[in-house]
Amino acid sequence: MLIVQKYGGTSMGSIERIRHVAERVLRTRAAGHQVVVTVSAMAGETDRLIKLASAISDREQPRELDVLLATGEQATAALLAMAITAAGGQAVSFLGHQIRIHTDSAFSRARIRQIEASALTQALERDQIPVIAGFQGTDAEGNITTLGRGGSDTTGVAVAAAIRADLCEICTDVNGVYTADPRICPDARLIPRVAYQEMLELASLGAKVLQIRSVEVASTYRVPVRVCSTFSEEAGTMVVSEDSAMEKVVVTGVSLDSNQARITVSGLPARPGIQAELFRPLGEAGVVVDMIVQIPPVDGRASLSFTVPLTDLRTARDRVDAAAQRLNAGPVLSDDDVAKVSIVGVGMRSHSGVAQRMFELLAQQQIDIMMISTSEIKVSCLVARRYGEVAVRVLHDGFRLAEAPAADPAAG
Ligand code: ADP
Ligand code: ASP
Ligand code: MG
Repeated sequence: MLIVQKYGGTSMGSIERIRHVAERVLRTRAAGHQVVVTVSAMAGETDRLIKLASAISDREQPRELDVLLATGEQATAALLAMAITAAGGQAVSFLGHQIRIHTDSAFSRARIRQIEASALTQALERDQIPVIAGFQGTDAEGNITTLGRGGSDTTGVAVAAAIRADLCEICTDVNGVYTADPRICPDARLIPRVAYQEMLELASLGAKVLQIRSVEVASTYRVPVRVCSTFSEEAGTMVVSEDSAMEKVVVTGVSLDSNQARITVSGLPARPGIQAELFRPLGEAGVVVDMIVQIPPVDGRASLSFTVPLTDLRTARDRVDAAAQRLNAGPVLSDDDVAKVSIVGVGMRSHSGVAQRMFELLAQQQIDIMMISTSEIKVSCLVARRYGEVAVRVLHDGFRLAEAPAADPAAG
């Protein structure tokens, strides 16, 4: 098989761990597979670099920030290549531009457009193990770009798609994808198989075990992904197209997103087009608006509440304050003391009463719901941040996610 293995920050967190990863890569090679590896920076390194940048200047300088952040993965790619060679293998490191990972120019959230596989296939033909610096690429002008936090997952899956690998392994610090973050919910259960669409929701709603974009790429190019631990031999979780071998459950998992903030604009003149005018500047600034609630107008004035990523709150406030002034709207308020808790499952499509059960479970714990949003396969509630983790445990218990599902719930 041709396998792409991606090793995350914790797996690359020390010299000892990098040596362990080198052994693991060589074991896969010795089992007769061809391997391409991509790596994250050492745990904590990207955060450290971000702090250095903000200590230098308050002014945002996206191009320079990406040059800085890309260094974390440059270091680990070289170190792992050295470790593999020192352990008796043959490895060669590659930066993003050396294997032509072309992206758009959206610094810090760039999207991969194309990867030229030739350098990788040539290395494989020479019997070398390519070790690619994850998280980075270059735009059409040759500027270094980065793919957003957690972006090495996307490097792994996109490389797997480009070289038509049989499998992309995301090697991390947990055994796979669980029914909830095992750090929040100690009795969370490993999900053996999960559908791309479900995984996309789980990731979008806060399960950072896979970057959202990596799941999109996997689903578009039908790359089978295995999420597994760097530190154990367990089978982990397969992320694949929906099939009949999947567990028949209504709720597959619970996730928590604490990177949330709520903005409320009141006194909006109630006329057609006002929402478009308010949100246009946010779109232009690349801010993703999530939950939206509008209170019907009183005396011709409406109010609108919506959520944005907490990390974008400053940018969002600047744009919304300016728009509110232009539109002659009332005061703008923001609240960063919120978190979004969600239940996800393709089984919800054919079941009623799931949202109501979620509301009941939260109510039993006196957890107030500030906003709600739903789709065919998820229900999300915005709650006070201090209740976020409790809410995850309450929902995990209430929907009995720790228990292995019955073989066929339709029968019982
Ligand atoms: P890496 O450094 O390997 O990329 P991350 O820290 O990005 O690892 O992602 C792994 C972490 O994701 C786990 O340590 C776990 O705390 C968290 N996580 C959140 N939700 C889930 C979930 N549903 N299943 C597994 N892990 C989860
Ligand atoms: N080092 C980057 C981050 O911390 C990318 C990654 O780990 O996937 O976000
Ligand atoms: Mg990650």
